[in-house]
Amino acid sequence: MPDPGFPVPGFIIKHQGENYLFDAGENSQTKLARYGISRVKLNNIFISHMHGDHTLGLPGILIRRGQEGSRQPLNLFGPQKLDKYIRATQRYLSYRLHYRINFTELKDSETYDLGKIKMTSCRLDHRLPTFGFLLQEVKNKRKFYPEKALKLGVPQGPLWGKLQNNLSVVLEDGRPINPPDVSDPPPRGKTVAYITDTRPVAEFPREFYNVDLLIHEAMFLHNDRAEARQKYHSTAREAALVANHLNASKLLLTHFSRRYDSPGVLSEEAADIFPNVDWAQTGMELKITS
Ligand SMILES: [Zn+2]
Ligand SMILES: [Zn+2]
Repeated sequence: MPDPGFPVPGFIIKHQGENYLFDAGENSQTKLARYGISRVKLNNIFISHMHGDHTLGLPGILIRRGQEGSRQPLNLFGPQKLDKYIRATQRYLSYRLHYRINFTELKDSETYDLGKIKMTSCRLDHRLPTFGFLLQEVKNKRKFYPEKALKLGVPQGPLWGKLQNNLSVVLEDGRPINPPDVSDPPPRGKTVAYITDTRPVAEFPREFYNVDLLIHEAMFLHNDRAEARQKYHSTAREAALVANHLNASKLLLTHFSRRYDSPGVLSEEAADIFPNVDWAQTGMELKITS
């Protein structure tokens, strides 16, 4: 429920000058403005499901994105009804967008190539069709060892770049040098998973395993697990078990019930099982580093 002290879902992932948005609860537009997030650089939006707390902020963002001058197509991912919802608001609120929306209807687990990142979707277990997302940065450059190159007589310069980009080269004396001679395959790109609203899921697509940052809902304490089951949400303990199962590096809890005085009690419960845990607050920033 939107309330000054109680945020609704909306997570921005920043990567190489691009912004990626997970869900857009009411007021997401003003939050983007408050935290200086450019809507012009927002070309990919992922909506988990069609409950209002995840979607009411979307039309405003779409309108404002156009007003800020973006003509770039927008990639929008979500359940089937998302497309109808956007078309209906366009029709009844009489607004036109001067950019194209490429809508992708999610059905199951699939991987999409978005240029600098890849997105893998998976099905969650909620009261209506709901999807989780994994973003992985694409790494093309091989891990290069200058000392190995120099030893083989490859002079510093454009040849190094070619080898890093997985191209073989020929030296002036006619010797061929192949990328594996001086480099290792590209390192695995950093990953973020966004999993809400759902009962704990037992099996995920392989891309979700060893995730660097897992954002997972934790609506209830385990004491209230019967209600969690009935409402198709997770407890903090269950979120921690998922983090363990996925071998996550860090867990960030979100989507709390208002009945608890502070979400701190939820992260305390999760910490018994998964110590590297925190809870999401409005304006919070986390950095994922190598
Ligand atoms: Zn929901
Ligand atoms: Zn929700």
